[in-house]
Amino acid sequence: MAASGAVLAECLDLLEAAVAPGVTTLALDEMAEEFIRDRGGVPSFKGYHGFPGTICPSVNEEVVHAIPGPRALADGDIISIDCGVTLDGWVSDSARTISAGDVGPVATHLMDTTRRALAAGITQARVGNRTGDIGAAVQEVVERAGFNVVRTLVGHGVGRSMHEEPQVPNFGRPGTGALLEEGVVIAIEPMVTQGDPEVVLGDDGWVVCTRDLGLSAHFEHTVALTMSGPRILTRRHG
Ligand code: MG
Ligand code: MG
Repeated sequence: MAASGAVLAECLDLLEAAVAPGVTTLALDEMAEEFIRDRGGVPSFKGYHGFPGTICPSVNEEVVHAIPGPRALADGDIISIDCGVTLDGWVSDSARTISAGDVGPVATHLMDTTRRALAAGITQARVGNRTGDIGAAVQEVVERAGFNVVRTLVGHGVGRSMHEEPQVPNFGRPGTGALLEEGVVIAIEPMVTQGDPEVVLGDDGWVVCTRDLGLSAHFEHTVALTMSGPRILTRRHG
């Protein structure tokens, strides 16, 4: 899983460097697929419940699950790129929100907050803790900044399949939820909204957007629970 995660980390680094005004989400998708296959991996999302892309490139009010297409990024857009890699049968899952050109202070604060919320959640990903410890840590960072966490989409176990037990909500109370055991690998993925946390499904049946059309950010890492603490598998020098 660490090998899978390393390919994914490098893939997202490549995409992050490529994000700029004028770039289409389909161009990013093609770049990701070529990179993953060159490294001997398979794009985990492609064909998953019929999803057509390698990445989910969700722009601005789009939270997750956007389909790649001809949309060109505009100056000031933020794009959440979610991607999965399967390598030798092992899946890794990671996302990050990236700015295209000059984004405003609210977008910058939203992205920084979501990144910090993920980091806070990861520090709670310890053997003997519970999923509620992670959710509470994420929620506290987000709400203290004046933003909100999406309730209807959650993190998850990951391994041979992309979505395994346990569910890892981005909210909750410490000491509640599933027990975190040694060797379990989870995807922790705060999805944070500028305004109302309610989300709606788009016309294509895939993309999930904020109901109030406020901005959304999404950061995700695949994290292994070890006796020496959380091990981030989707970071190049994790
Ligand atoms: Mg993901
Ligand atoms: Mg995930």
